[in-house]
Amino acid sequence: MFTRCLFCHRELPANESLEQFPIGRRVAYDPVRGRLWAVCPSCRRWNLAPIEERWEALEELEKTVQDRARLLSQTDNIALLRSGELEIVRVGRANLTEEAWWRYGTELVRRRRTYQALTVVGVGGVLALMAGGLAGGAGIFGGWWLLGRAGRQLPRATRTLKFGRTAWQGRALCPRCGTELVRIPFKTRGALIALPDDQGELAISLRCLNCEYGSGDHGVRAALIASMPASTWSMLGTGMARRDEKGRVTARIWMPSWERTVRRDAAPGNADAPSGYRITGVEAQHLLRRVLAFQNFAGAREADVRRATTLIQQAGSATSLTQQLARTGRPLSDMFPTEAIALEIAVNEDHERRLLELELAALEQRWQEEEEIAAIVDRELT
Ligand SMILES: [Zn+2]
Ligand SMILES: [Zn+2]
Repeated sequence: MFTRCLFCHRELPANESLEQFPIGRRVAYDPVRGRLWAVCPSCRRWNLAPIEERWEALEELEKTVQDRARLLSQTDNIALLRSGELEIVRVGRANLTEEAWWRYGTELVRRRRTYQALTVVGVGGVLALMAGGLAGGAGIFGGWWLLGRAGRQLPRATRTLKFGRTAWQGRALCPRCGTELVRIPFKTRGALIALPDDQGELAISLRCLNCEYGSGDHGVRAALIASMPASTWSMLGTGMARRDEKGRVTARIWMPSWERTVRRDAAPGNADAPSGYRITGVEAQHLLRRVLAFQNFAGAREADVRRATTLIQQAGSATSLTQQLARTGRPLSDMFPTEAIALEIAVNEDHERRLLELELAALEQRWQEEEEIAAIVDRELT
């Protein structure tokens, strides 16, 4: 059995998943024609296994695919599957349903474990401080107060370290007032609205504070408040407001420093144009994935992931769930936690599926070339 790539001579990584074929992290096989290859991670060529070593390995692979492997994606000719550390390219259509969301669900559960570990570390740090503080006479109440905060502060600080404070930087113009949005801080993520654009792709929109407050036109603001249903929180600009039965208004504006996020008079406005900023295309998908990863930084319990994936299954696919949620036009802050988790899984799954499609197309081409060679080699041997 070879251990080096026949083409580039670099060492092929071993796998511990296949007893009969412990070579390669990615293997390819064709159960009908009886071919078996180890795929080289360096040059991506397929190394055909010696004919006498194939049969038991093929049987083992077929069993792995049926019992344990998850189907990532497939075309009419090949399927890409994963089983533990092993990536399997199977020639022919696999009789399995795609469960790509499972990958991201696992990631969310793992994230929750990290988050909990961070909380424990934070609390542990304060306990140590408390022990010192008690000796120094700082008092037990100060310690308990710190303890409650520390559990939240360390994970939060870690999140800020990982993501920074800015969710998006770029340029988006409000067609009505000509103000340009240049930055979206994570703080205001709740005001973002995911919408389908003209092509059915995802777009992100944000209401324009300059149109609503900037001109000093308090009439617009008063009209907005008057139109709000009583006693429920409504979006107002990049904040929220609530009007009680007596007409008293409580407002929470999340972007007190919003002026630093826009450039006024970047373009001439047009009073007839719609108000608000819109981010589209790859930029919108990237922003949404980033904001959701930030929002769901604490991860999710397995039960939550299961509920979220049920939402995806009910919608039919990740893409249709994304579109379904986008059609409601609700801001992110109005979404239920399960919906936010489902949306994160769905948008990532969508993104990954696009990458997988590219990869599958390349793999299919490679398979055609390698199969041609394999057919010649095997004919000469038999
Ligand atoms: Zn190679
Ligand atoms: Zn505007």
